[in-house]
Amino acid sequence: MNYAFPPEPQVAVPISGSDAVFPVRRIYCVGRNYAAHAREMGFDPDREPPFFFCKPDNSIVVVPPGHTVEIAYPPQTSDFQHEIELVVAIGRGGRDIPIEQANDHVFGYAVGLDMTRRDLQLRARDKGRPWELGKAFDESAPIAPIVPASAIGHPASGAVWVQVDGADKQRSDIAKLIWSVPEVIANLSSFFELQPGDLIYTGTPEGVGKVERGQTMRGGIDGLGELSVKVV
Ligand code: MN
Repeated sequence: MNYAFPPEPQVAVPISGSDAVFPVRRIYCVGRNYAAHAREMGFDPDREPPFFFCKPDNSIVVVPPGHTVEIAYPPQTSDFQHEIELVVAIGRGGRDIPIEQANDHVFGYAVGLDMTRRDLQLRARDKGRPWELGKAFDESAPIAPIVPASAIGHPASGAVWVQVDGADKQRSDIAKLIWSVPEVIANLSSFFELQPGDLIYTGTPEGVGKVERGQTMRGGIDGLGELSVKVV
């Protein structure tokens, strides 16, 4: 292929316990999927159908275990916020996937951060504009290695937490997801044909808040390990 310039390399996430890596296709994100977070954002958690937004694949920042990875404080914001999330890695594609079969499409799970320029997101939300400026910027999707479902099964409960400079900021349980992982997969696959390589950030619990330059976020989910990210 005679490309006019070198194409970007394929984005990939390490797989825990394997030399293989997970090539990323699309990144889907679920909005307001914990009741207490919906309330803190000013909404009733009335189990309206899930809604989605996307990030580009090159917003991924791989965070190896035992390392702290630096991300740059992004431009055009004064309200840069952390959202700790369970990430689902799709290993088998499909459309209109039934809830009962959804887990068969999951390759594995990871800890991720849906970093958000909250001021830009809220301005867009309130004006009925798209969320890309608030959500889809460079380095907005840090992620730890993917833990295969073949190793740990399909966790339906477990602590999800993030600390900033050692102080607890978000702490909940993935059992509190309004829409469970199988329900998210079923709903999302009615709008898009899912493909291997797709990632789904499943939403964040309450306690979202600002991070400033020089601060370090450390977060984790039971059974999936931890990640550590410093804002510079
Ligand atoms: Mn989120």
